Amino acid sequence: MSINTKKVKKNAWRITKKRGKTALRIRVPGGHLNVKHFDLLKEIANRYGNGTVHITSRQGFEIPQIDFENMQEINNIIAPYITEIEVLHGVEIDTPLEGYPAAGTRNISACIGNRVCPFANYDTTAFAYEIEKTAFPNDYHVKIALTGCPNDCIKAHLQDIGIIGQVDRQYDEYRCISCNACVKNCKRRVTGALSMVNYKIKLDKTRCIGCGECIMKCPTNAWHRNPQNFFRVVVMGRTGKKNPRLAATFLEWVDKETIIKVIKNLYIYIDKFIDKDSPDGKEHVGYIVDRTGYQVFKEYVLKDITLPPQAKVADKLEFSGYYYEKNNLMS
Ligand code: SF4
Ligand code: SF4
Ligand code: SF4
Repeated sequence: MSINTKKVKKNAWRITKKRGKTALRIRVPGGHLNVKHFDLLKEIANRYGNGTVHITSRQGFEIPQIDFENMQEINNIIAPYITEIEVLHGVEIDTPLEGYPAAGTRNISACIGNRVCPFANYDTTAFAYEIEKTAFPNDYHVKIALTGCPNDCIKAHLQDIGIIGQVDRQYDEYRCISCNACVKNCKRRVTGALSMVNYKIKLDKTRCIGCGECIMKCPTNAWHRNPQNFFRVVVMGRTGKKNPRLAATFLEWVDKETIIKVIKNLYIYIDKFIDKDSPDGKEHVGYIVDRTGYQVFKEYVLKDITLPPQAKVADKLEFSGYYYEKNNLMS
């Protein structure tokens, strides 16, 4: 069977190492799924694949060993899934019967968030769905992940855009019994942003990363949460064969609306500056920023955005990472 590999890949089917066989990728925004959908995965894997399903590193599913000739039939089968998971959440997909319309922007992944984890500062999956509407479908190769707190279990620091929950912790000194539990914990496990002065807590805002652990440690509820959600946004992290590196903080103490606008602007920036000759039209945004410089990136992605008053923007980004061909210290 002759196939158009470019179209197939765009359609979220994989070119695999076995001739004639493909694998179907299923998006799971935010990495959280109603188990009723497992029946669909099982049916496709049993009927068309080899009875196995791979959980991808981006929290989607990949069903291997499917014959190319079955692709359209399977696209029909997954149409109700695409409708329920994507279209009904506001993602613009004209024809779910033709499968996924793009595979460039990868599944938006997320840690378990506050549906389960006590450290989490927000509902990561719910926010992933909001971002999905902005980021998908899109052919540009962008990786986005959300993590509920600075523990960063999802590895937001290895993404093009990593979103980390922050909490604005508020202190009621009349409830404080000066037990020092929050001070000791912040010093030992976090950034040492707290100290005790005259039996009251002093907060160094420049060191506080908004993890919220002080709130959890306090026996008297002297620390409590501002119910508004805030986020740190880290950008241009990546793995890969050239120059792997950790993302750097771009924004702090921003709200959801700002992040959605930043992501929209990011695609405009990529469209303008991507190397048109990049292999398969894929270029990590960090490499584009290496060419344009951070200030151009900043200007584009913050265009027409009024930042909330508490927001902070990085003046410059410090990147390190390493180049395989330059920094090979092996003897
Ligand atoms: S990153 Fe934080 S919120 Fe998410 S699972 Fe880890 S500890 Fe919990
Ligand atoms: S939110 Fe985290 S970093 Fe800030 S004071 Fe509390 S424990 Fe320390
Ligand atoms: S844990 Fe609570 S009560 Fe103890 S020092 Fe901190 S704010 Fe005060």
